[in-house]
Amino acid sequence: MSEFAGRRAVITGGGSGIGLAAAKRLAAGGASVVLMGRKLDRLEEAANGIDGALAVQCDVTDAGSVEAAFAKAREGGAINILVNNAGIASGRPFHKLDEAEWRRIQDVNVDGVFRCTKAVVGDLMSSDYGRVVNIASVAGLRGGPYISHYCASKHAVVGMTKALAVEWAQTKVTVNAVCPGYVETDMAEGAIQTIMSNTKRSRDEAVAELTKMNPQGRMIQVEEVAETVAWLCHPNSFTVNGQAIALDGGAP
Ligand code: NAP
Repeated sequence: MSEFAGRRAVITGGGSGIGLAAAKRLAAGGASVVLMGRKLDRLEEAANGIDGALAVQCDVTDAGSVEAAFAKAREGGAINILVNNAGIASGRPFHKLDEAEWRRIQDVNVDGVFRCTKAVVGDLMSSDYGRVVNIASVAGLRGGPYISHYCASKHAVVGMTKALAVEWAQTKVTVNAVCPGYVETDMAEGAIQTIMSNTKRSRDEAVAELTKMNPQGRMIQVEEVAETVAWLCHPNSFTVNGQAIALDGGAP
């Protein structure tokens, strides 16, 4: 597989979970990948396991950090692919949700996508190929209890995706979103732990609470999300633009 040979891809939140799997998949297709995140040790360990990968520290909530990180990423060549994957989640009933928690989620999940996408516009516009893939969520497509702040952030990402796809439709760039249900990562583990502590249910019962949202009755695997990212980045996927692709086992 060399569909991404000569392409340079930045993956935010590339040191773990979905981001790391996407980085591995794009690298397997020949891309040179740059992993970004706050925890440099973890990023470097991840990068060591991927041929030619670079680890660059970046906090997507800090405009200066984003600017410096993308400048460093660009030293190895113009950026062709951006996977906006960095994200955080928490569960709160709305009446207990304060503005600080609301802002914390928007700052990473929405404003972070804004900052990182701004950072690659110049590269994308001057190339004959460009891909932006935003890792949203099924929470970007429909509602759910206790996640109004997360839901709002992921709906915003889907909205930004659709708007940019139209705005840039006459360029060589596509912008799409991937919207998974529960994926087996640290983030989903956080949801399991929250259910266990809030409801005193067992781990098996908490997992069942998450898997029942997926008609296939299971947790999604990171490689499945990564494969969709790779498909959207494939040169032959140019016609797929402005889509929010649900990966949820067929939830109605
Ligand atoms: P994860 O392993 O916790 O990954 C989240 C990544 O985001 C981490 O690598 C983290 O790296 C990075 N990150 C968080 N805050 C950051 C910041 N301020 N600046 C830079 N990087 C930051 O969980 P995941 O499940 O793979 O999540 C990846 C994406 O998938 C998220 O956008 C999430 O909303 C979305 N998603 C997940 C699920 C699920 O069930 N797991 C379902 C739907 C959508 P550092 O800590 O090193 O910064």
